[in-house]
Amino acid sequence: MNIHEYQGKEILKSYGVRIQEGIVVRNPDQAVEAAKRLTAETGTGWHVVKAQIHAGGRGKGGGVKLAKNLDQVRDHAKAILGMNLVTHQTGPEGRTVHKILIAQDVYYPGPSEPKEFYLSILLDRAKGRNVIMASTEGGMDIEEVAEHSPEKILKEWIDPRVGLQPFQARKVAFNLGLEGEAFKEMVKFIQALYRAYEDTDASQFEINPVLKTSDNKILAVDAKVNLDDNALYRHKAFEDLRDLNEEDPLEVEASAHNLNYVKLDGNVGCMVNGAGLAMATMDIIKLSGGEPANFLDVGGSANAQTVEAGFRIILKDPNVKAILINIFGGIVRCDRVANGVVEAYKNIGDIRVPIIVRLQGTNAEEGARIIDESGLKVYSAVLLKDAAARVKEVLA
Ligand code: GDP
Ligand code: MN
Repeated sequence: MNIHEYQGKEILKSYGVRIQEGIVVRNPDQAVEAAKRLTAETGTGWHVVKAQIHAGGRGKGGGVKLAKNLDQVRDHAKAILGMNLVTHQTGPEGRTVHKILIAQDVYYPGPSEPKEFYLSILLDRAKGRNVIMASTEGGMDIEEVAEHSPEKILKEWIDPRVGLQPFQARKVAFNLGLEGEAFKEMVKFIQALYRAYEDTDASQFEINPVLKTSDNKILAVDAKVNLDDNALYRHKAFEDLRDLNEEDPLEVEASAHNLNYVKLDGNVGCMVNGAGLAMATMDIIKLSGGEPANFLDVGGSANAQTVEAGFRIILKDPNVKAILINIFGGIVRCDRVANGVVEAYKNIGDIRVPIIVRLQGTNAEEGARIIDESGLKVYSAVLLKDAAARVKEVLA
């Protein structure tokens, strides 16, 4: 589960990680109030207005703006709230901004220059260990750094038996070229960040930039936090952090029915039981000249309700020209699935696209007979190659 920058920062702060302080708001009046409050609390003169969407690259897309007085806070708030923000991570359609973070300006002048760093923690699956990644090339697109100067990305793997050792935090801070007060601050920052990462069952923390301020404080200016869905049951409070505005509406509907659905751009909807079979089915669709419109795994127990919910979701996608249902009847019997398909078809009523049903496994023939005798515009197939041929036929 992805969460917003302001939510990620709140979590970090609760673990003692120093952050760029801010207040999240929904309209320009609140923005001005928030700015006044921040000045009172932090002494900041200038403010930054930051769009809150689940995508990075907001700065380049015009979603992060510096305000030097309250009028500018109001102007930037007006401009950013409601805007359709396009970044390299949103895709060309962009995202509507519903919330903004009013934050203190932390790039103020002082005894030294402010300096941006990159810091992230994630699981290295190949090594079976968490890894801290750090770079002096902060504020930049890390993918670009990885491509052009991979030697500038430092990696420190953590042994799960003993956790992050103090010498490792010192090594990272030292290799980032820090000394004195800033070095000490960075060591504390890394240790607190790692504690937060482990404790929240996060799957990724990416802090870009981490800032060394002109007076040698280390703080998180940005926070991209990804929490492990499979561990959410251990953190009931995190459920409130979910923002459905940021998710595809069809995917939200699917998750309410416990369906694994991912929307894609093609023209053939597919409904399959099992993730591996779903991927093979998508390959078959491509081989027969179509493009999959989605990935949909209805899980092990396909029944009339799940089939109907899946149907409804696929049919809401206007690009869908045909639907391929590919069910392997292992635990679930094909005749039951066939009855489910026929029932769902009748319940939904107005289905305009051809449906190809391929049932294989227990009671496959019986399933095909039910489909064939239903009198509906549903084609049955027992072999996958027949199903593929049918898809080709109906797309032609
Ligand atoms: P992203 O573009 O979505 O990654 O958003 P960030 O939170 O990383 O902010 C983008 C950029 O805005 C940063 O790299 C900074 O250059 C700039 N920025 C963020 N906070 C401040 C601030 O307090 N003062 C100034 N002057 N610039 C800031
Ligand atoms: Mn950033």
